[in-house]
Amino acid sequence: MNQANLTRLCTVSRRTFMAAAAGAAAGCATVPKAACRAAASGAPITLPPLPYGQDALAPLISAQTLSFHYGKHHQGYVNTLNKLLPGSPFAGQSLEAVVCATAGCADHAALFNNAAQVWNHTFYWKSLAPAGSGGAPSAALAAAIHAAFGSMEACNKALAEAALTQFGSGWAWLVAKKGAVSVVKTPNAETPFTQKGVTPLLTIDVWEHAYYLDWQNRRADYVKAVLDKLVNWSFASANYAVAKA
Ligand code: MN
Repeated sequence: MNQANLTRLCTVSRRTFMAAAAGAAAGCATVPKAACRAAASGAPITLPPLPYGQDALAPLISAQTLSFHYGKHHQGYVNTLNKLLPGSPFAGQSLEAVVCATAGCADHAALFNNAAQVWNHTFYWKSLAPAGSGGAPSAALAAAIHAAFGSMEACNKALAEAALTQFGSGWAWLVAKKGAVSVVKTPNAETPFTQKGVTPLLTIDVWEHAYYLDWQNRRADYVKAVLDKLVNWSFASANYAVAKA
């Protein structure tokens, strides 16, 4: 699913959710919302291939970290999701539809957590690139960054601040809304694309499993390494182009 469809799906879904929440105490669909039914793919949720080799981000993020983070943690979320989905109201739905339909829904917390973690991790791998290969922000994204932060350095500083101040597990994100970019942080599995009109551009995983083998408790050093060397600005730029379209 491309970013434009993703934004449309969650915009509709969130509106439906808010309407349901206003009209009924639950706010949680017992059957998939209309937007989610439309997005049904019927395909099983699978672990997408890493966009590079497990040693491609070393030494900043080692092959050992990727073997656990991708091979155990990400795979684990996929496995758990595929155990939870059969028999649920969301069996056969696309990953994005499951995330949208269960966001903010206490009755489906386990489904949301695992589905969102599958999506977030796939997005995180794409947000990184081997050192020297991530390119630079497009002219359009660079202009939006300068408008919002004043400079690339200030943007990176805001991302680092979000990553460092996310208490416990979570994510730091660069996002776009109506062409403007901003930095947000989310706890645990939460993901900004469930918010109306918000398109993620890139993310940094700040769960300890993302950095502990390489950096131990030094989250700041891991985040600095990512921001200085590993951000895939070409990916962020492509996401921004779709968000603006
Ligand atoms: Mn992770």
